[in-house]
Amino acid sequence: MLGLKGLVETETQLVYLTATLRPSDEAEFGRLVGLPREGVRWFRGTTTRRNVQYQIRRYKTEEESEEDALAALAEEKKQKYGKQGQIIVYCDTVKKAVQYAKMLEGLCYHRGVGSQEEKKAIVRQLTEGRHQVFTATNALGLGVDAPTIRVVIHVGTVRRLRDYAQESGRAGRDREKSEAIILKPIRYQGRGRKQRRAVEETAEQAEMRGIERAMWEFLETAGCVRVVLDREMDGRTDRKGCEDGDERCYRCEAAAPVAMETVRQKQKWREEEDRRLVEILDEQETEGQGMSPDLRADVEVKTYRTRARRRKHGWDVRIEQSEEALEVERFKEILEEWATGCMWCRATGEEKRVYSGHRLEECMEEDSGVVRQTVERVRRKIRWEKYSGCFDCGIPQGICKRYRAKVDGGYERVQGGSCQFLGVLIESVVSMWGANSSEAEVFFQERMRQRGVEWDGLDEGELVKWMGRKVRWGGFESNEMCRAMVGLYKVHNKN
Ligand SMILES: [Zn+2]
Ligand SMILES: [Zn+2]
Ligand SMILES: [Zn+2]
Repeated sequence: MLGLKGLVETETQLVYLTATLRPSDEAEFGRLVGLPREGVRWFRGTTTRRNVQYQIRRYKTEEESEEDALAALAEEKKQKYGKQGQIIVYCDTVKKAVQYAKMLEGLCYHRGVGSQEEKKAIVRQLTEGRHQVFTATNALGLGVDAPTIRVVIHVGTVRRLRDYAQESGRAGRDREKSEAIILKPIRYQGRGRKQRRAVEETAEQAEMRGIERAMWEFLETAGCVRVVLDREMDGRTDRKGCEDGDERCYRCEAAAPVAMETVRQKQKWREEEDRRLVEILDEQETEGQGMSPDLRADVEVKTYRTRARRRKHGWDVRIEQSEEALEVERFKEILEEWATGCMWCRATGEEKRVYSGHRLEECMEEDSGVVRQTVERVRRKIRWEKYSGCFDCGIPQGICKRYRAKVDGGYERVQGGSCQFLGVLIESVVSMWGANSSEAEVFFQERMRQRGVEWDGLDEGELVKWMGRKVRWGGFESNEMCRAMVGLYKVHNKN
């Protein structure tokens, strides 16, 4: 309403409407159309759509072609949304648009696809929801208002963020949950197996390929992609990430703890899918007394493919990891909590002294000397197994800020990076252990037995050795000590 009032106030006689003008281009636009400096008002809506989940899917060029990656992705989305959910694949060349249309049994739209009438006919198929999959070049432009597009996929080079904003904005006009996905190759450099490694493209390299800087940032940012979109398209600079009511972008999604509901839902899907597979096999088995070996092989191949696809997308692994992922989230919270104040006072429930400004090194409470000595001993004896954690702080490399993830997996040291939880892990574990020694002992015994280590009587050396062992934990490479910290914390809280 304020906007309308603004219109009246300025007695506007000319209204310019545009879907893609960035704030930084306003002045240029004004100059071009000869607007006076005074008396011009700008009204801006948001470019990003709340119901669209923005994602970038990376695939390894060494393992998969663009074609294969697209085929798998399109298949996944077809199954997810069914016939009603339309999919547009934007390609960077006409050749690809034609080729992928064939592969996906889609309709193809590009500048030279036919007469005006023929083009209109294709667009009608889209807007009236009469065909599921479309491939197109950027010629499929403005004025296409198809409400039920669930997924907009981009393959190949995307050069300008404003084009991307507009094209991805075709998704979810009906405000239903939708997706905008860029399929992006991971590039490799170097010769020979040893030297070959995945590299991220720098802004300068991207520019050489005609990719503008904002687009590069959108592709490479480790943070929320809506931050980049909103800043570039709408001049909004106060966004921190996806907000309540936004479909979380792939970056925010990855950073958020997995909701239990999602875990259960995925579990259910997996069970259903397994049941279906078994049914199909059983049916074939009974019907197929005389089934030809060829047919049988065919069925087996299909079954195998479905399973392989599932494995590839990590569904199985992800479900198992989800509950653990919650535990890892808890672990991070506990680290935050125990990083402040004195661990020994916290463990012994000396609430008043926890925040009195002293650290464990300066603690005067009873037995604090024993704790300090134990910490020293553990520190000397612990041998973190390779890749089980940061050698300085013992925290998984996926959490410690001394490291950052490489695009193709693994971690590398950040220049000038430092451990944000230095001196927290061993100190906290020893304190919790010391303050609840008998329960802690039971806990350790139980944990070690689960991991196949028989243990009678407390042997500090053995225990410390065990704690340095590597474990896969909620998608992280971690060690037993980090996991034990969550368990000990529970013990501590009960007392
Ligand atoms: Zn986000
Ligand atoms: Zn203290
Ligand atoms: Zn560290």
